[in-house]
Amino acid sequence: AKNAGKNRFEFFTSSMTETAMRRMELESQLRQALERQEFLLYYQPQADLKTGQLIGLEVLLRWQHPKLGVISPGEFIPILEETGLIVPIGEWILKTACQQTTQWSELGLPQLRIAVNLSARQFDRQDLGQVVGSILAETGFDPQQLELELTESIFIEASQNTLDILNEFRRMGIRLAVDDFGTGYSSLSYLRRFPVTAVKIDQSFVFSVTNDPDAAALVRSIISMAHELRLNVIAEGVETEAQLEFLAQHRCDEIQGFHLSKPLPAESCLAWMKSFTEK
Ligand code: C2E
Ligand code: CA
Ligand code: CA
Ligand code: CA
Repeated sequence: AKNAGKNRFEFFTSSMTETAMRRMELESQLRQALERQEFLLYYQPQADLKTGQLIGLEVLLRWQHPKLGVISPGEFIPILEETGLIVPIGEWILKTACQQTTQWSELGLPQLRIAVNLSARQFDRQDLGQVVGSILAETGFDPQQLELELTESIFIEASQNTLDILNEFRRMGIRLAVDDFGTGYSSLSYLRRFPVTAVKIDQSFVFSVTNDPDAAALVRSIISMAHELRLNVIAEGVETEAQLEFLAQHRCDEIQGFHLSKPLPAESCLAWMKSFTEK
């Protein structure tokens, strides 16, 4: 028994080491990834539920390493956040997405709204408002067509500086959506204090909406509460016709998910949009 205990301990430490080594390797590779042009952006369509029209694209970061392959955002985004690398990379994401979609509108496609995820760490830059403002000016992207997706933690931890930046965004005409809505905190009072314009119902609720009455009740109440607060409601992770019908019946405004399209690399997204808008 003593031996078994000892072996378990050794197994435990060596697996800890493996995790730590993977993490160190990813971190050092991430420090060079921007320069080496290993990041790319995927775009996932968002549609108006009533009209079926394409209205926006969520921008999602991908990392393709020549040796390590494709690493999931769930693994590398936390490292970018912990190291602060998300600050310069976040600027690259916004700038690249603005440039890319401006090119598309020059090809004759409608100027779509883009939804860009912001991490809490990006608010460490006191001048985040100006940084975003200059990217928009430089790329000629209409601020009204930019939506920033913010997780609830940003509102909960918010300093006066964060509040100032959010107000600055709104003054510029930028929209602010609460991402993963409903998963973070029980108190919703931040919806009164912060200038948000939309909530994005988390995919875990959407997933269960047709087989779990509690999830269905939650989604219904989120939609009606959001509408009373004059907020736009988007549901993410919509995969099935049944989920879509539930959301339509309860007057959700917009949808995003595999039912419409998976996130797509730029070229495929352009092709997808052309065939979708021709329909
Ligand atoms: P998120 O912002 O909640 O993004 C939605 C995630 O759901 C994406 O995963 C997307 O690919 C996935 N998804 C979309 N439709 C469906 C569906 O119908 N069913 C299911 N099961 N999943 C769906 P992804 O791209 O792996 O990103 C994971 C997370 O990484 C994002 O969650 C976001 O928190 C973070 N992330 C991704 N790109 C960025 C970025 O550019 N900046 C920052 N700060 N975070 C990012
Ligand atoms: Ca998001
Ligand atoms: Ca989300
Ligand atoms: Ca999420």
